[in-house]
Formats: sequence, C-alpha cells, structure tokens
Amino acid sequence: MGEATQYDAVIVGSGPNGLAAAVTLARAGRSVLVLEGKETVGGGMRTLEYTLPGYRHDVCSAVHPLGVGSPFFRDLPLHEHGLEWVFPDYPLAHLLDDRAVLLHRSLDETAAGLGSDGAAYRRLLAPIVDDWRGILEQFLGPLGLPRRPFLMARFGLRAIQPAAMLANRTFDTPEARALFAGMAAHITIPLNQVTTAAGGLMLALLAHAIGWPFARGGSQSIADALAAYLRSLGGEIQTGVWVQSMADIPPARAVLFDVTPRQLLDIVGDALPGGYRNRLEGYRYGQGVFKIDWALSEPVPWRDPAARRAGTLHIGGTLAEIAAGERAIWQGRLPDPPFVLFAQPSIFDPARVPGDGKGHTAWGYCHVPHGSTADMTAAIERQIERHAPGFGDCIIGRHTITAAEYETYNPNYIGGDINGGVQDWRQLFTRPVARLNPYTTPNPHLFLCSSATPPGGGVHGMCGYHAARAALDRHFR
Ligand SMILES: Cc1cc2nc3c(=O)[nH]c(=O)nc-3n(C[C@H](O)[C@H](O)[C@H](O)COP(=O)(O)OP(=O)(O)OC[C@H]3O[C@@H](n4cnc5c(N)ncnc54)[C@H](O)[C@@H]3O)c2cc1C
Repeated sequence: MGEATQYDAVIVGSGPNGLAAAVTLARAGRSVLVLEGKETVGGGMRTLEYTLPGYRHDVCSAVHPLGVGSPFFRDLPLHEHGLEWVFPDYPLAHLLDDRAVLLHRSLDETAAGLGSDGAAYRRLLAPIVDDWRGILEQFLGPLGLPRRPFLMARFGLRAIQPAAMLANRTFDTPEARALFAGMAAHITIPLNQVTTAAGGLMLALLAHAIGWPFARGGSQSIADALAAYLRSLGGEIQTGVWVQSMADIPPARAVLFDVTPRQLLDIVGDALPGGYRNRLEGYRYGQGVFKIDWALSEPVPWRDPAARRAGTLHIGGTLAEIAAGERAIWQGRLPDPPFVLFAQPSIFDPARVPGDGKGHTAWGYCHVPHGSTADMTAAIERQIERHAPGFGDCIIGRHTITAAEYETYNPNYIGGDINGGVQDWRQLFTRPVARLNPYTTPNPHLFLCSSATPPGGGVHGMCGYHAARAALDRHFR
C-alpha cells in the first residue's frame, strides 16, 4: 500500500462515522472513496417505507440530540443539502400509570413539574446546563486532559455514579427518579453499575440545551445530506460493495473502517500484528434490541393528553421496574415488562406519512439479551396499551426486527448491539483497546472510525471525524 495509490483514502462503510471521516478528509483536499455494502448509504440513519406505501420509518436512529449537538455536524452546511431538524413541543414524556412526567426544553418548567423534587433537579442540572458547550466538547472531543478541569470535575463526580444510586440519593419522588432512570437506561447497562449516571445526565443536558429533534422526512435526510456534501467536495461513493478482505479495497494511503473490531479482524487478516489482534478479540459486545415500526390510522390515544406533545416517550414505569428489566437482560432473560423507548415523529413531521394527513408513524424498541431471536411485539404493545387504551385498534401496518435480525441487516450490530460494543466504564474511553490514539492501529495505513471508538454510539460523526484527523496527521501533513 502507498505506492500506486488510486485514492488518498478509502472508507469502508457509510454510517454517520464513515461519512464524517470521508467529509473530513475531502475537506482537507484528499481524494476519497466510500465503499458501502448495502444499496443505499446511511448505516444507522436509513429511512424505509416498510409498512405501507408513503409511511416513512427510521430503521435505526430517529432522535437526534447528538446530531444537532455534534460540534462536527454543526460545522457543516448540511442544511444546504436538505437537512432540517424538527423540534417536538417536549423532548420527552416519561409515562407512569397515573401521569406523564414531562422533560421540557426549559429547566425551570421541568423543575416546576417535579413538585418537591424540583429544587433537587435544578441543583443537579443547572450547573452543567449553564456550561453545556464545554461539557459536550469535552465528551465528544479528542481524548486528553480536561480543558476545563473544574467544570469536568463537577460533571464527572455526578456522572461516575451508578444511575440508580444518584437518582435515589438526589430525589424523593417516584416521578423524578423514573425520569432520570429512563434516560440513563438508553445506554443498555444495568443501572447499578458505575458511570451509568453519565447517560442520564448527558441526555437531560442535551434536552435543556438543544432539544431532542427528528430529521425532517426521516434520519435518511442526515445521510443524504452528508453524502451530497461529500460529493460536492469531489468524494466518491460506491454502494452494493461488501468488503470481505483487503483485496476488495483499491490501493490507498489510508483505509478507515466504519466497522467493529470483529469485522475488522475478518477483513484485514494478518495486516495487523498478533498482539493487537489478540487485544481486539477481547473487545466486548453488549445486549441487543427488538424494534417495531408502526403505521397508524390516527395519533396514539395517550391517556394523558400531554404525552401527545412529546417527541420521545419512555414507557417502563418506575426506577425499580426499569432497573429490574435492564438487570434481567444482562442475566440472559427477557425483560418483563420491557422498558420501551418510543417516538412519534409524524405528529411533528407530516413528511413521514402520505399526503392525506390522516395516518401516523411510530417507532419503538426495547432491550433484549445479546443475539435474542425473541419476538417482543405482544410485550411492547401491552406496555403501550397500558398508557394508551385502544392503541391496538389504530395499527394498520407493522414491521418488526429481532436482535439477531439486526446483525443481518447491518453487520455492525453484533448480536443486536446498537452501540458497536458495550459502553460501560471499562470500554467507554478505551474502545476498541487502551491506546494513546484509539483510531490508529499498529499498521500505519489502517484506521478504525466506527462507534467502536470514542465517544461511542449515536449519530454524531465524532468517531469518524477524529479517525480522519488521525489519518491526516499521519499521512497528509
Ligand atoms: C433501533 C436503533 C435505534 C437507535 N436510535 C438512535 C437514536 O435515536 N439516536 C442516535 O443518535 N443513535 C441511535 N442509534 C444508534 C446509531 O444508529 C449508531 O450508533 C450509529 O449509526 C453508529 O454509526 P457508525 O457509523 O459507527 O456505524 P453504522 O451506522 O452501523 O454504519 C456502518 C455501515 O457500514 C456498512 N458496512 C459494515 N460492514 C461492511 C463491509 N464489510 N463492507 C461494506 N460496508 C460495510 C454497513 O452496511 C453500514 O452502512 C440507534 C440504533 C438502532 C439500531
């Protein structure tokens, strides 16, 4: 590699991180080629009409606080290539049996809705919300010493705690405890493990600082905007090309892989030394998800009308219920009842449904054990019906996908793990292995740019951006 090179860089995979890496290199004047196995670009950002014609469903990601907050995306002219964020009235409603607990954009309004826990909520969040840019840049930025040590210490002392402990110590009411537990549970780690509070704090911070938007028309618009911008910079994309070995990759100075360690090992073979290969083999994958997309004849008939105005809903009851469900999946059991992460994009984005304005779409999933083939349809719909009697009568189309099927759909979702590997304290910053620059490998031409590198899962493109910076530093200074 390196002599008769056809491209400066080839990127394998067109997820948010693959496209972000390609854009970063193309902006630096490098010739780039993206190879994508599927027929369309996007990885976890695809939108398909897979229930009824005209009903556009986000196959994977749907809610984009990290996308709008990403310092990298913010720097790109994606709106000129069709990307528009749609902000629901409320970022989140957490459903309890007798009411919906609301997470507003405004910290004050959220605190006011939490009654006797309002002051505690404000004490927990206000100091970090006030300085959200610093926190976000530190978390999504390159690793290294904190640029704002006092700010990071303030955040870190809270974030390092188990979510259940932080919620129980900080709050007295079931409402505030459940609201925090639901956000922390996104990361798919038992809530009694250290650092699980970080997920809850980060999502709350993003809700107050930025909101939890959808992409108009579906998450595919983010992928299409990134691809269009890349092409405007001269970058090339080939779809329908599954890379199985190094022989499938045209000669290039740098190859960046938007895949996880297990696939990297299969593709590159002995292009990586044995010691590093052994360490990659120890990389751990997490639990899976079971997902449903619904086409609905009308909006979900939530018992609490406030729930209609939230983009995202957490349906899992109290902190204890959510914690029990998350613990169960790590013990290889199905959660009963499951914690359901639910979104209703068409309420705020009519572009998701056919033009008559009558139908709606909904998106929901729950966590299940790694590789599970279980069909959770009945359990998920029972949870929704608990808070929206008559929901079942609104369903006119449904598409389901098990954890095992997710890996078939996208080989990066090993066992249905949507974060590209466990994001617990042992693998949060040291993904894929502990290494000064985790995007590099011992082979100077090979780089990893997927969510199996810091800062991990989510549609933010920061893994791809940092990996591309590493390739630029090494080869194109
Ligand atoms: C159900 C679900 C819900 C989610 N919800 C959200 C959400 O609301 N918000 C959010 O921010 N994130 C969400 N995510 C997570 C998010 O989608 C991922 O973290 C993100 O897409 C990871 O980006 P990536 O670029 O690392 O990899 P991916 O997006 O997985 O992209 C990898 C790409 O590489 C291609 N590829 C893999 N192997 C090869 C090969 N050998 N040859 C060629 N091409 C290959 C794949 O086809 C794919 O297109 C969700 C994911 C799922 C599944």
